[in-house]
Amino acid sequence: MEKTKNRRRGDGWFTALSMIWPARCPTCGTITQSRTKLCPNCAEENEEIGEACIGCGLPKEKCTCLKVMLDLNLAAVYPYRGGVRQAIHAMKFRERTDLFDFFSIKMADRFRAVFAEAKVDLVAAVPMTRRDRSQRGYNQSAELAKRVAWQIGAKYEKRTLEKIRETATQHTLSEKQRRKNVKGAFRVGSGVDLRGKTVLLCDDVKTTGATLNECRNVLLKNGAEEVWCVTIAVTVKE
Ligand SMILES: [Zn+2]
Ligand SMILES: [Zn+2]
Repeated sequence: MEKTKNRRRGDGWFTALSMIWPARCPTCGTITQSRTKLCPNCAEENEEIGEACIGCGLPKEKCTCLKVMLDLNLAAVYPYRGGVRQAIHAMKFRERTDLFDFFSIKMADRFRAVFAEAKVDLVAAVPMTRRDRSQRGYNQSAELAKRVAWQIGAKYEKRTLEKIRETATQHTLSEKQRRKNVKGAFRVGSGVDLRGKTVLLCDDVKTTGATLNECRNVLLKNGAEEVWCVTIAVTVKE
């Protein structure tokens, strides 16, 4: 039985699928051996984050927690650059919805590796406003969260968080402005009881962490006992 111990949910399906439809590297598209790995070239270019600080998700030597007062309980898979960055962009803006499966497997693996003891009651996503979601057609964080929940065998609760107002695009703002921009933009959905629950919050990319921090605080203020975060990538200053 030793052999089945490290299998992920869905591995059998992936193996069966590979017999009729060869796997392609999620970032460059060349035919590869596995649906759950980047091809050797891309894997070399997009090295996964090794030992990291869970306050900010960054590699230990790049930790910025003290400077910006962050304590996110975050596990992130990749630095946000290169092929991974392009793939995330394609997933968000060019409907590469096939990438949800790949990235959610990586997120679930990373979460289990970093927070081995964590027991999750609910999996939640960083929400979009209704208007933004209908413009894009989907919320990428929700699509990832659903799949991460399935991977770790926990419940995905769609209404955990709601975004109640539009916010300015974060990337043009300073650290301080970002925090102000998202302040009060989220609430817990009606009928969701978080008391005593542990929540895993999913998003695609952590930049300064202002959004995750705000969402996490809303969950904690509403009774959640513990909140962990997991993202595909984090912005790492070179
Ligand atoms: Zn590749
Ligand atoms: Zn840190």
